[in-house]
Amino acid sequence: MRTVKIIAFWALSWTWGIITTATGALVALALLITGHAPRRFHHLVCFDLGNVGGGFSLGVFVFVPHNASDALKRHEGGHSVQNVFLGVFMPIITVWSFCRYWWRRWQEHRGRGDRLPPYEAIWFEKWATDLGAKYYN
Ligand SMILES: [Zn+2]
Repeated sequence: MRTVKIIAFWALSWTWGIITTATGALVALALLITGHAPRRFHHLVCFDLGNVGGGFSLGVFVFVPHNASDALKRHEGGHSVQNVFLGVFMPIITVWSFCRYWWRRWQEHRGRGDRLPPYEAIWFEKWATDLGAKYYN
């Protein structure tokens, strides 16, 4: 991403996308207090959550499992870009994505994982992957 786009990304994340970014800042603060050091992923603030199943994104902050693949980091970065586009409406997608993720995990736990549609069958997950591939390569 070019410098002018990065500046616009950060400015929009902390204004139009403030609901999601401020929530991410609170999570980041809690992680800082408990001794988690952030790293950079491109221009995003990236926290290693250790041994957890998945990652999530809240504004300029991304939270990923230990040794997360670049593909996962790019996908979460794609959600960060979505926040710039969707702004105050982003929490709808964040909550929807969160519920869908855990519903899928529950279905897999029940042995019904083979009946699930692909993860990116829903528009906002496919969009996040596409945005991640575009901006975080
Ligand atoms: Zn996602």
